[in-house]
Amino acid sequence: MTDTPTNFIRQIIDEDNRTGKHGGKVATRFPPEPNGYLHLGHAKSICLNFGIARDYQGICNLRYDDTNPVKEDEEYVRAIEEDVRWLGFNWSGKYYASDYFDKIYDYAEQLIQLGKAYVDDLTAEEMRQYRGTLTEAGKESPYRSRSVEENLELFRGMRDGKFPDASKVLRAKIDMKSPNINLRDPALYRIRRATHHQTGDKWCIYPMYDYAHPISDMLEGITHSICTLEFEDHRPFYDWVLDALKTPCHPQQIEFSRLNVDYTVMSKRKLLQLVTEKHVQGWDDPRMPTIQGMRRRGITPAALRDFCERVGVTKKDNCIEIALLENCIREDLDSSAMRRMAVLRPLKVVVENYPEGKTEDFELPNHPQKPEMGTRKVTFSRTLFIEQDDFMETPPKGYFRLFPGNEVRLRGAYYVTAKEVIKDASGKVVEVRCTYDPESRGGGTPDNRKVKGTIHWVSETHSIPAEIRLYDRLFSVAEPEAGGVDFLTRMNPNSLEVLKDARVEPSLADVAPETRVQFERQGYFCTDRKDHRAGHPVFNRVVTLRDSWAKGGK
Ligand code: ATP
Ligand code: MG
Repeated sequence: MTDTPTNFIRQIIDEDNRTGKHGGKVATRFPPEPNGYLHLGHAKSICLNFGIARDYQGICNLRYDDTNPVKEDEEYVRAIEEDVRWLGFNWSGKYYASDYFDKIYDYAEQLIQLGKAYVDDLTAEEMRQYRGTLTEAGKESPYRSRSVEENLELFRGMRDGKFPDASKVLRAKIDMKSPNINLRDPALYRIRRATHHQTGDKWCIYPMYDYAHPISDMLEGITHSICTLEFEDHRPFYDWVLDALKTPCHPQQIEFSRLNVDYTVMSKRKLLQLVTEKHVQGWDDPRMPTIQGMRRRGITPAALRDFCERVGVTKKDNCIEIALLENCIREDLDSSAMRRMAVLRPLKVVVENYPEGKTEDFELPNHPQKPEMGTRKVTFSRTLFIEQDDFMETPPKGYFRLFPGNEVRLRGAYYVTAKEVIKDASGKVVEVRCTYDPESRGGGTPDNRKVKGTIHWVSETHSIPAEIRLYDRLFSVAEPEAGGVDFLTRMNPNSLEVLKDARVEPSLADVAPETRVQFERQGYFCTDRKDHRAGHPVFNRVVTLRDSWAKGGK
């Protein structure tokens, strides 16, 4: 067993196992529609379904719900598999709903033979009118009483391409007066001449999702068919299909609430819009809540799994704070990421009393609490870079970093005191002249002199130039979709800042893509999967060290 906390779905499974409802078997599936890239909400569903299979020694299938031929694409299929594996899971079987098109078709003929399905010629508009409303019963279609023979012949005609698109549908014959609109003779098949990415032009009729889904689940021997809450009202139809066909097994559909997260949007349709209208640089833009985006940003699979566990599984609609995900990332990287020094916005510092041409190597720990993670060498010299905002010519009260006359500790090296500044024509400080205390080697002095500030640094000639991409939240308000306002008007204009002149310590000279480090005092960073290479290091900021949005934002 693992430490996964229990939830109402696991309690249902425990009870089913106790009563032997599914013969003690546990089989789940993750059923994405391959019409976009997976996002954080899908990650929750993946962790839930695959996590249950893992913990109950059951199976979890990956199934593409590819009943809609038009919006789907092979590119998405490849990305989905990569994403599931990257999250740390492996499917027991990989299937396409389209694998079952023959069987799904045969079951439709069976329903016709049972008098439980009919071909309807009403137009889509008429059908809408006949359907009724929440308060008003529906009306039966004049085609509802066709004979089994006529229905069979028409349905085969539909399959054989005898009728134009959308001219007929096959419908279940249930109850036009049902208070549940989903039971008012829902459509089972429609005519649609479209090339399908798996079945090509074999079919010109396609089953509806709500009809194909219970059959696909049943054919795979799924025991618990977990989906999101909007399918709750569809469950009676799910059960109707399986009951009508008297199938050998009957999966239990269980609904849970969708994951919503603040400061982002999560529907594939909106994410697609961000991509196609170029508000972001692609599906894997590190600001996107897609799994590809989060991966490229530098978030680890462990942090995502931890997040999915912490948000829990309930039936209540909710909105989770993105700060929770950020904390999961910090916790994960705090323990695993090596510490490094990087100067994002360099300011030159010359240590006047340090001999020209001399260098010294300091061994600094890779992790302050984990000596087993070893050390790395950082070279000190007369000319250094520090962070621009670690120096102020006229500091406010409480500023403990470098200013004229003040002494600070250069992390792991020496104490330095600022003496004077050199400015450019515009009056901007371009260089700080300092002196150092040779007695303070390693960061302390024999007289135990206290300094209040410790700042990071790199040596001018030994550091390497790097591009650093500072990512922030994509939207500037917690609920970008609230109040009927176009979510695009609420994008955070500062969600990406690119720093081209950053300098990083020499130990980062040849790290691989997707290497995560903590830049001391700055945050966690990860080398970019796509653009980082030897000679041109590119670091993405995964997350800052602390939540800078907590006190009313920036
Ligand atoms: P979207 O609305 O973003 O397009 P979807 O539900 O249409 O999402 P599918 O590809 O059909 O996406 O979903 C695959 C599985 O992932 C489904 O079982 C679905 O319930 C689940 N899922 C999708 N979005 C979320 C979410 N926000 N929270 C939890 N589960 C989700
Ligand atoms: Mg969908």
